[in-house]
Amino acid sequence: MTKPIETKPAAKKVTPMMVQYLAIKEQHPECLLFYRMGDFYELFFDDAVKAAAALDITLTKRGHHEGEQIPMAGVPVHAHDTYLARLIRKGFKVAVCEQTEDPAEAKKRGAKSVVRREVVRVVTPGTLTEDTLLDARSNNYLAALAKVGQSLALAWADMSTGDFFVQPATDDSLAAILARVRPGELLCPQKLIEQPDLYDVFAEWQSVLTPQPDARFDSTNAEARLKEFYDVASLDAYGDFNRAEVAAAGALLDYVELTQVGQMPRLARLAHVAQGALMEIDQATRRNLELVQTLSGERQGSLLSVIDHTVTGAGARLLATRLSSPLTDPAAINARQDMVQFFRDADLIREDLRQLLKETPDLERALGRLSLGRGGPRDLAAIRDGLAATKRAREILSQDGEGLPSGVQVAETDLGHHEVLVEKLGRALQDDLPLITRDGNFIAEGFNARLDELRSMGSDAKKLLMNLQVKYQQESGVDNLKVKHNNVLGYFLEVSAKNADKLGDQFIHRQTMSNAMRYTTTELSELARDIVEAKDKAQALEQELFEDLATDVKAMADGVALAAHSLAELDWATGLAQLALDQDYCRPIVDHSLAFHIEGGRHPVVEHALRKSGNTDFVPNDCELNPDQKLWLITGPNMAGKSTFLRQNALITILAQMGGFVPATACHIGVVDRLFSRVGAADDLARGRSTFMVEMVETATILNQATDRSLVILDEIGRGTATFDGLSIAWACVEHLHEANKSRALFATHYHELTALTEQLASLVSYSMRVKEWQGDVIFLHEVMRGAADRSYGIHVARLAGLPKPVVQRAEDVLHTLEKGEQSGAVTRLVDDLPLFQAILDQPDPTPAEVPASVVEDTLKTIDPDDLTPKQALDRLYELKALLKD
Ligand code: ATP
Repeated sequence: MTKPIETKPAAKKVTPMMVQYLAIKEQHPECLLFYRMGDFYELFFDDAVKAAAALDITLTKRGHHEGEQIPMAGVPVHAHDTYLARLIRKGFKVAVCEQTEDPAEAKKRGAKSVVRREVVRVVTPGTLTEDTLLDARSNNYLAALAKVGQSLALAWADMSTGDFFVQPATDDSLAAILARVRPGELLCPQKLIEQPDLYDVFAEWQSVLTPQPDARFDSTNAEARLKEFYDVASLDAYGDFNRAEVAAAGALLDYVELTQVGQMPRLARLAHVAQGALMEIDQATRRNLELVQTLSGERQGSLLSVIDHTVTGAGARLLATRLSSPLTDPAAINARQDMVQFFRDADLIREDLRQLLKETPDLERALGRLSLGRGGPRDLAAIRDGLAATKRAREILSQDGEGLPSGVQVAETDLGHHEVLVEKLGRALQDDLPLITRDGNFIAEGFNARLDELRSMGSDAKKLLMNLQVKYQQESGVDNLKVKHNNVLGYFLEVSAKNADKLGDQFIHRQTMSNAMRYTTTELSELARDIVEAKDKAQALEQELFEDLATDVKAMADGVALAAHSLAELDWATGLAQLALDQDYCRPIVDHSLAFHIEGGRHPVVEHALRKSGNTDFVPNDCELNPDQKLWLITGPNMAGKSTFLRQNALITILAQMGGFVPATACHIGVVDRLFSRVGAADDLARGRSTFMVEMVETATILNQATDRSLVILDEIGRGTATFDGLSIAWACVEHLHEANKSRALFATHYHELTALTEQLASLVSYSMRVKEWQGDVIFLHEVMRGAADRSYGIHVARLAGLPKPVVQRAEDVLHTLEKGEQSGAVTRLVDDLPLFQAILDQPDPTPAEVPASVVEDTLKTIDPDDLTPKQALDRLYELKALLKD
């Protein structure tokens, strides 16, 4: 916890305020310091320069320090959230420093004393709770990595929802775990960052890495911290944690305490993710499959964007988490599928629930803010409405007479009973609520008698003042005597100057204006004091009532969190049920076998895109991997749909093991422990690796780690090097996969030569993508069929892509010669006999590109569309076309 800063004696020419500023800044060197001055947060020195550039706000100067002007920039307190959000998004951390005493108190210490200020919160990317700073549909995790002896562990928590997990890791599995969790901020001991074998892992997470002193990861301290936080004498009841897991979870708590300056959020019981409980999917595979975001980092176009039919933020977060972490236990998978199936079949219940959930606020995040002391009246209303929805949800579920599947039953029970709290919050809150408590006027009439009394004193004020005004008018006979108010005098009585001497002795003079006189009376002063006091008291009382209500909510926090999770679970299941219905997905069988049987499988994202464009229908394809044909070798031209087929089988597996339905007519999958996919590598120049190097690193991972329970998807291995090198590598990889890994695998390749391997390798079979040749053109049928492709059709695709005709023709000649002759000799002959560039130069190129654009342009310029009849317009169009043919 940050200590209050004592103001040190000012160094020469340094103002006391600057001394205080510098002392606070020294404690937070890694943050921008938002230093509260009245209605602004001011930034000074380098902080000001950085913030001004990042926020595009004015950089000004204020005073001098060591002979130089001090750069300054400021953001208004009332709008600081937006600025904060932009700074955090740009990777800054911000320490918010408030005035923690009344300036009047400070003055008592002497005219020059500075108001006491303290950092009340450090805002970092991993510790956000405000809706304005968060995406409603994704979790924002703070993660901490620790190493004790040889064991690694990662802990992660979402402060806005209270989720808290820990998982053991190894040097090999760490990258995959991080790729799954996708932390918004990663705490890491300095010595681990410097460990060479983890450089590559951290390179991925550089932008979110927050190095921490090694001491923060001490496992003994961490254990004490965890026990203190959960108020338990031993962690045994929470699970069997190793020292590294304890160190990671404790360090995370430590950082939360540091950034929240002692205000601890509500975190759920630390949950242990056991090794092997989730399907392992490494970073490259996740990226390639575009599970929750596309290769360019967007949600739109990812698998998640297509399958997300949830209607609440919490449901969407749960779906994203589950899609990122498919299960490996068939019983657990089946239990989830039961839920989806139940809601798919029960139309009325599904529709009613979805309608209800649509109107349900985000309980989890409201609870998160209230437990951190950062909530407002609207969070109380969210709790009220969210909890009220649990009752209605239970009623909807009870419409089913046949018995609910166990998952739905658990959710129904966990919805809980919150009538008392809902009723109290219902009575307490007004209909229209301000965002922050300070604005007041959110407690409903009739909830608190004293508040009603204070308010009526305020609202009666006008009436009382009017009565007083009438009384004085009558007593003095001055009709234009008026009660008025301004910020300097408060309430006063005003008469025109000429009437002043008509007033009696009880009128006390306050001010003389050019043609009016202002007075007060004891009666008026007392009334005015009562009015102001009533307003202040009402505001203070409302604040107190807010705290009481927040305390009521916090006392029920575990029940509220459970209810929130149940609602999310119902949203998750009904959303997937709706998807299954809308998109015609089927329930897969997932068991302990090694089956991989998919009938009529479709790629959910490509299918969605084709449907949207309305051009063609997606062509479904089967896939059957079993001990007799464990490895499919798939050949076929570019654009025929190989990559789509490969990916769709991986995506179906993920959807199945998440517990959802799948885009197929039938599906049976023996649980997959690890999924590997290497599809079209991209250059990773940021990490100094070429395409081919990336491809080989990823292939090495697969060949080293894949088991007989894994699913491996390899697309064109060896493409990035010379033909013979590439072919040899692909050849050896197929052999290794078949003989050593024995995984279920799909291997797409352009090397037709590999099909020869089917003779030697018992469970390697050839498949290809069907194409049809028609009038010299190639038509892709997108169908997978048994047997090898007879040729590549690469040149056809090149023609489709618009390569100039001479190049296409020349390529056909070269191919012909190569196919005819023995390769090396053929190449020599080609060079000798058919000088390539000469051939191109000699060949007239009749492509449209040859027609001078100017001719067409000039003709177009002469046309005035407004002057043309439709017939003339058509004629001109024919003329233009004819020009292109010339
Ligand atoms: P390349 O080797 O060039 O990567 P490819 O054989 O892997 O080609 P894909 O990228 O999978 O081909 O598919 C090319 C396009 O064909 C897709 O973008 C999609 O529009 C269409 N397509 C693929 N599969 C199907 C299908 N089963 N049904 C309908 N259209 C499909």
